[in-house]
Amino acid sequence: PVRVRFAPSPTGPLHIGGVRTALYNYLFARRHKGTMILRIEDTDSQRFVPGAEDYILESLKWCGIEIDEGVGVGGPHAPYRQSERREIYLKYALQLVEAGWAYYAFDTAEELDALRREAEARGEAFAYNYAVREKLATSLALPAEEVKARLDRGDQWVIRFRMPENETVAMDDLIRGHVEVNTSTLDDKVLYKSADALPTYHLANIVDDRLMEVSHVIRGEEWLPSLPLHYLLYKAFGWTDVQPRFAHLPLLLKPTGGGKLSKRDGDKMGFPVFPLFWTSPTGETAHGYREDGYFPEAFINMLALLGWNPGTEQEIFSMQELIDSFSLDRVSKSGARFQPDKARWFNAQYMHHKTDAELAALYQPVLRSHGIEVSDAVAGKAAGIMKERATFTTDLWDLTSFFFEAPREYEEKQVRKYWKGQNPAILRELRDVLAGIDDFSLENTERIVHAWIEEKGYGMGQVMNTLRLALVGAGKGPGMYDVTSFIGKEECLKRIDNLLT
Ligand code: GLU
Repeated sequence: PVRVRFAPSPTGPLHIGGVRTALYNYLFARRHKGTMILRIEDTDSQRFVPGAEDYILESLKWCGIEIDEGVGVGGPHAPYRQSERREIYLKYALQLVEAGWAYYAFDTAEELDALRREAEARGEAFAYNYAVREKLATSLALPAEEVKARLDRGDQWVIRFRMPENETVAMDDLIRGHVEVNTSTLDDKVLYKSADALPTYHLANIVDDRLMEVSHVIRGEEWLPSLPLHYLLYKAFGWTDVQPRFAHLPLLLKPTGGGKLSKRDGDKMGFPVFPLFWTSPTGETAHGYREDGYFPEAFINMLALLGWNPGTEQEIFSMQELIDSFSLDRVSKSGARFQPDKARWFNAQYMHHKTDAELAALYQPVLRSHGIEVSDAVAGKAAGIMKERATFTTDLWDLTSFFFEAPREYEEKQVRKYWKGQNPAILRELRDVLAGIDDFSLENTERIVHAWIEEKGYGMGQVMNTLRLALVGAGKGPGMYDVTSFIGKEECLKRIDNLLT
């Protein structure tokens, strides 16, 4: 069975790259009738940020990414927060020491710093690896009694993976294909730290994927360099029998194409790179798609296409359509360029497809904030007439306020035009024509007014512009009969009188 996990670390707000990883996992799970797991990888206490986990949960919920098993839901492998699973990991770390795949290292932070500085002075980068591990304070170098004595007296230690020297690790990635790496280029990663009695990412991740029976690891490309270590960990544990398949997703690139999209790029672009508004514990804030007025469906649609393509021209996908068409072999190997304008475009598409009832639900709060109380039918109708020109719900007021209140001011340019020629006199005549209409429906009003214009030989555009100025106060707006039928005869006449006097 397909079992995938989204495994974020609560080190800050989830950026859109993280949401895309969650989305692809979710689509893959649903597509294969599998299980979507949410695991919180919070073993790095240094980087833990309060509030980040709640932010992650709320973001997924807003996006419509449902979790079947994990934090917030529970499940057969609970707990799903690694800090609550801490007892599990030491046993596995010790198992690797026992088998010779790992060793104790006793170096203090100061000693490691000194080693780093020395290497730097030689123009090199320090690597804790096969070349040095037998010369340092490790259980590979120290006599067994000394190691025991240090452990017994409670010296601090870490357990490091003993990366083999000069071996080839051959890996298969569902997106990148076959990859080979020589182990001599890799260092001995820390797997467990006595200081906080916690595993590092690598150990906890592998152990939990195994215990949680994860079948596919779908994650960001930044983890590709860790893949050889992860392969070797499966081998060291003897777990290659049902080792998960891996798929590393391409990076999201800056709109300019220059490198990886970073969390700070949002400020520079004036565009959100986070799903929700975020306030950090120190009071810094960041914009979010939700608060900026994006529809979650539009946001998800945009994200789905950043790195995956359906192989057709189709651009608008509901979540269900994404589930039905998603496959890892249509995920690209190369980075996907994030295009802020495209998100706006998607939002507009979703706006244009909303029904009047959906629009009413969105628009009513805005209307109420302007002190306007109308039925849902009226709110939805007004928004429906103008939705094609809106991108966000907040655009609707400027586009439709004239349906609800008489113009408070008139656009100057149009007023100047109005005073040229016969317009006031024509408007007065038009007033009388409208006053005489009983059935004020769109069609009937249009028919009568047009007949009158024709009979008089007036210019259609000229009359309509004058009427528009009276009813809307501006040179643009919807069809005039949309407005007349919407506001009704009495209000029409009132607005005309306003302009005439
Ligand atoms: N905790 C890792 C992260 O924050 C998970 C990487 C993985 O999926 O293996 O990205």
